[in-house]
Amino acid sequence: MITKYFLYARKSTEDEDRQVMSIEAQLTEINEFARREGVKIAQTFIESKSAKKPGRPVFNEMLGKIYESKEPIGILAWHPDRLARNSVDGGQIIYLIDICKIVSLKFPTFWFEPTPQGLFMLQVAFGQSKYYSDNLSENVKRGIRQKIRRGEWATLAPLGYINNPRTRNIEPDPVKARILKRGFEEFADGEHSLETFRHRLHFLGLASKVGKPIAKGAVKGILTNPVYIGLIPHKGELYEGKFQPIVPKNLWDRVQKELKRRSHPRKRKEGHNFPFTGLLRCGECGCMITAQYAKKGRYIYYRCSKKNGKCNQSYVNNKNMIKQLKNVLAKVTVPEAWEVLLLAEIERMEKECVSEQRSFSQNLENKINQLDEKMDKLVNTFLDGFIEKDAYLKKKDEILKMKVEFQEKYRDFGKKGAAWVEPVKKWLEVARQARKLASSNDFFEIKNVIKKIGSNHRVMEKKVLLDIIPPFSLVSKYRAGRAVWRGSGKAGGAVKAKYTAPKLEDVLSCRGEKTRTSDPPDLMSGCAIQLRHIPNKCLSPQIYIIFQI
Ligand SMILES: [Zn+2]
Repeated sequence: MITKYFLYARKSTEDEDRQVMSIEAQLTEINEFARREGVKIAQTFIESKSAKKPGRPVFNEMLGKIYESKEPIGILAWHPDRLARNSVDGGQIIYLIDICKIVSLKFPTFWFEPTPQGLFMLQVAFGQSKYYSDNLSENVKRGIRQKIRRGEWATLAPLGYINNPRTRNIEPDPVKARILKRGFEEFADGEHSLETFRHRLHFLGLASKVGKPIAKGAVKGILTNPVYIGLIPHKGELYEGKFQPIVPKNLWDRVQKELKRRSHPRKRKEGHNFPFTGLLRCGECGCMITAQYAKKGRYIYYRCSKKNGKCNQSYVNNKNMIKQLKNVLAKVTVPEAWEVLLLAEIERMEKECVSEQRSFSQNLENKINQLDEKMDKLVNTFLDGFIEKDAYLKKKDEILKMKVEFQEKYRDFGKKGAAWVEPVKKWLEVARQARKLASSNDFFEIKNVIKKIGSNHRVMEKKVLLDIIPPFSLVSKYRAGRAVWRGSGKAGGAVKAKYTAPKLEDVLSCRGEKTRTSDPPDLMSGCAIQLRHIPNKCLSPQIYIIFQI
């Protein structure tokens, strides 16, 4: 028979309950909890009376319904003390459990299992004796400490994670975790203030419980929370979590740096929010390009701020600016068909690298083991009283963070394969974004991508100019230089297309050049790109691309 669940929420106006959550908050939390536990609520009971003495009307009504019910009943409440705080009411609940009228009790704040011990704990929680409550909370604390030592998250999952009752730990929420990671990336790139960051998260779909942007005060806490790199902060100490991190350690570090940088206030005029300010400089005098409204706000003009005095450049209107920027995007776009084939090619080459990786991963494993030993020694030194607590904690943090870094490298290794894969994939991702943006009006993203694909962005004689960096610059060369790709022979037949499939080395090749080293540093990760001539099979010279870190 299916268990029917009753929700009971209570808060009295008396002193004893000052610390207790409001009824609305209890309802929100319990409903959320029920949803996670997969529990359907049949009826909700709300009471605003103290539970110190027996005889609450709503509580009694609920008990009446439980006695009469033919189906087994479960109760959801914030904490046992919401249900009863005197021995009579508490006894009734226990009795109903004994005669199997109540088969389940669920509290988001209290772990209850229908064992003799569980029942005893429950009785204690119902009682009002301070000694027992203190003792109980001591037990709960001990439980929490034990969980943490096992690397489990002990309470409600933090933003971006969900509680998994099966593993009794947390795991990344498939959607929210990705949004959060994206947010961290943008913040690290200096795209946001704390204020714009929370609105950006909201725009991407990460909101507070009531669907509003995350509270201002909570934003910094999110950006500095070590849980996102897989650590558990507890009472000023960090513990190693056995759950999956959401954010890579180096990204997290970059965010911390950015936060530090932002904590030194700079003078900055917050004027209108024009989409492309801060992106371009004047080609003549080097001043930043700024924007202004004209004709009573009907038009936007971009122009040199002329801070250095004389400059002869005139303005570019908004429409023209957008058109030019989209043209730039079109230049670095990789056709969808290439992308598919390139990804397949990457996968193939990745597989080839597997054996090379073995020694590297062995090395990492050793390093991780060494850190474990180091940690062990450190703890002993501390326990023997040879080292001050502050120094101990600092050292412990260091070791833990280092370990996280190594573990991450270790994990990524299996995933990523060789080091060149990630940059190539990142390049494809940006190229894909560029393709989408060429027909979109998400100016924020357009600016973002334009920044990534080039350097020395400037405006000269109303023309937007930038030096497109490799490998983005290779795309246009390739597209211009090779007719093969614009359909060869038969009109786009599938077999033909397969025959002329781009190899990784093929797409990034430049006809006729024998050896060439592109201008480092390359795209995002400081790799140097080397183009090497490989004389073989095909008629056209093949040039191979190697990403090295
Ligand atoms: Zn100028």
